[in-house]
Amino acid sequence: MNDVAYQNAYLLMTPGPLSTTEGVRRAMLRDWCTWDDDYKEITQDIRSRLIQLGKCTPDNYTAVLLQGSGTYVVEAVLTTVLDKQGKLLILENGAYGQRMATIAETAQIPYDICRFGELNPVDPQLVAARLDADPSITHVAFVHCETTTGMVNPLQEIIQVIKQRERYAIVDAMSSFGGMQISIEGLNIDYLISSANKCIQGVPGFGFVIANKDALDQCKGRARSHSLDLYDQWRVMEDHDGKWRFTSPTHVVHAFHQALLELQAEGGIPARESRYMENQKRLVKGMTAAGFSALLPAAQQSPIITSFHYPSGDFSFDKFYESLKSRGYVIYPGKLTEQATFRIGTIGDIHPDDIDAFVRVVSELNWLKC
Ligand SMILES: *Cc1c(COP(=O)(O)O)cnc(C)c1O
Repeated sequence: MNDVAYQNAYLLMTPGPLSTTEGVRRAMLRDWCTWDDDYKEITQDIRSRLIQLGKCTPDNYTAVLLQGSGTYVVEAVLTTVLDKQGKLLILENGAYGQRMATIAETAQIPYDICRFGELNPVDPQLVAARLDADPSITHVAFVHCETTTGMVNPLQEIIQVIKQRERYAIVDAMSSFGGMQISIEGLNIDYLISSANKCIQGVPGFGFVIANKDALDQCKGRARSHSLDLYDQWRVMEDHDGKWRFTSPTHVVHAFHQALLELQAEGGIPARESRYMENQKRLVKGMTAAGFSALLPAAQQSPIITSFHYPSGDFSFDKFYESLKSRGYVIYPGKLTEQATFRIGTIGDIHPDDIDAFVRVVSELNWLKC
């Protein structure tokens, strides 16, 4: 095998899939049987590690893995947990909140949407007023870190408002879980969703839900899709010691298990969060020195991904992107509807030294000519 052919051509400074370690990639170099006991044990170990990472006790919480990208898991939750009388409230301040509304619309789930605008965090007071005004709302769903901008929503305050009013809370923590500390049980979150290829630093292929057992246990027969039935997926995993309901992404699961071991070796989520925060701080400092400005104030900014304004009206993102790619870095286009921005991710196997090297390259490029 010619190893050079398998070396990465660039560092992914994106919100996922992201740059993984060689250890994670090597974990995929074998074939595995999907129903063999050894393999099922790996699935069970992943599930119990996820529960611990969410600061949950196995008596009250469970972890369910599901094939597909992160969106499939959001769709599985939304189409499994509401019964026919249920009504969903979606709190939206970006593309991923909007995607939940599209899912609800497609599945014909009764829902309302509370829009805050892309540049504002979710306001818990407005959520409280909305819930008080509409007792028919049973579930509330929102995004923790809106990857559209990089904004972090006030998780604790929003959950408090929802739980004080005895509604179920669904959190899309796709881009934050593993990279930011979240006490799922302490906050009393009912369903928290994330995927393999974000801050746990695995590769794409499945997502997972960390769910309150009592809540999930009520969801039998509610699913509006067969393959995305989260309840059935849970029961098969639970009753058959880690068996997946249908063919599982065996290589991806092994890579994810290795990624969890590496997360533990790094010092767990607190250590990873510190590294991401340091990455993000150095990125903004270096980019600012090179003439760029960040979209969000520091107080609203997550350590995951940062949006930057185009530096001028005639700035060519495509040329900037190509120049950086040829120098070993892949960045991300913007996703805002109103403003010209691009994004740079600071998660994955990226370290403060990499950020220093990256901002040196940016400042050496004459970006005004891009
Ligand atoms: C990445 C991401 C998703 C899922 O996207 P997929 O492309 O389906 O993996 C959902 N929500 C947020 C906030 C994300 O960052």
